[in-house]
Amino acid sequence: MKPAKFDYSRPEDLPTVLALLAEKEDARILAGGQSLVPMMNYRMAQPSHLIDINRVPDIDYIRLEGDMIAIGALARHADVKSAPLIAEHLPIVADAYDWVAHSAVRNRGTLCGNLCHADPASEMPALMQLLDAVMIVASQSGHREVPATAFFTGVYETALQPGEMLSEVRIPVPATGTGWGFEEVSMRKGDFAWTACAATLRLDARRITGAHVAAAGIGERSLRLRQAETALNGQAPSDDLFAAVAADAASAMNPANTIGASADYRRDLVRTLIPRVLSAAVTRAR
Ligand SMILES: Cc1cc2nc3c(=O)[nH]c(=O)nc-3n(C[C@H](O)[C@H](O)[C@H](O)COP(=O)(O)OP(=O)(O)OC[C@H]3O[C@@H](n4cnc5c(N)ncnc54)[C@H](O)[C@@H]3O)c2cc1C
Repeated sequence: MKPAKFDYSRPEDLPTVLALLAEKEDARILAGGQSLVPMMNYRMAQPSHLIDINRVPDIDYIRLEGDMIAIGALARHADVKSAPLIAEHLPIVADAYDWVAHSAVRNRGTLCGNLCHADPASEMPALMQLLDAVMIVASQSGHREVPATAFFTGVYETALQPGEMLSEVRIPVPATGTGWGFEEVSMRKGDFAWTACAATLRLDARRITGAHVAAAGIGERSLRLRQAETALNGQAPSDDLFAAVAADAASAMNPANTIGASADYRRDLVRTLIPRVLSAAVTRAR
């Protein structure tokens, strides 16, 4: 398949990117091209104008700013996965990246492009919600901040408005002693998740505190599981507690039936994976 006709710009600075975004109707940013180009080839996306940001300098950073890790629009998956800062502060991100595509795709694809693509079975949107990340959205009129929990609005849909781009993701450094767990089941490693679950928590006098739980592949978008978090906080960790929390979460979900994974199977995965990520998080929190 070949894409529909489109115009192409390759600006060399961010103000020109934002000016083109404001000026051109139906323009799209081209970052790693790992999702956009296949979608254009299948004619699922037909932007009239591509704005290639690959020549914009200094937007591929991964750096510590106060108590946040800031990741720029052109930071590639592979660089985020291997960054010492990520290994030190956000090992759950490095670990979950084992499940995101393959080396060739990770070498070219960007974290911000992945988040803007907003596939409901994608791992990083769920993790950004889990970690309370903040999206820095840029346009010609300035910047605004959108919590990750409000950024993903539907299948391939985000809170980005026309003329806006995601210029940076900021992820708070988790508190000392935070344990974590990430588990996924997909057809093959590197495929999108049939279901993925993730958790972080701390222990205070052997009771769970600050529990965060998120899942992908369970509906139109990945989600924070607030009800599970409420049920966990203040409780002593136990297999029975984790099984009950997972059963409640699974019964509240309405996942899709797709080739390879029925809705019932995905609910079974939630029942299986949530106890595993919670147990792993408790072990690491000790
Ligand atoms: C074989 C294969 C397997 C894959 N497996 C997985 C997987 O298991 N899990 C997973 O999560 N992903 C997977 N992916 C997708 C991969 O992670 C992509 O790299 C990612 O989804 C898009 O990043 P990109 O930089 O290539 O974005 P692009 O393809 O360039 O863009 C994607 C979309 O985001 C928009 N966009 C990009 N950057 C910005 C920005 N800064 N601001 C506003 N809009 C922007 C584009 O306009 C486009 O609409 C796979 C891809 C392939 C080809």
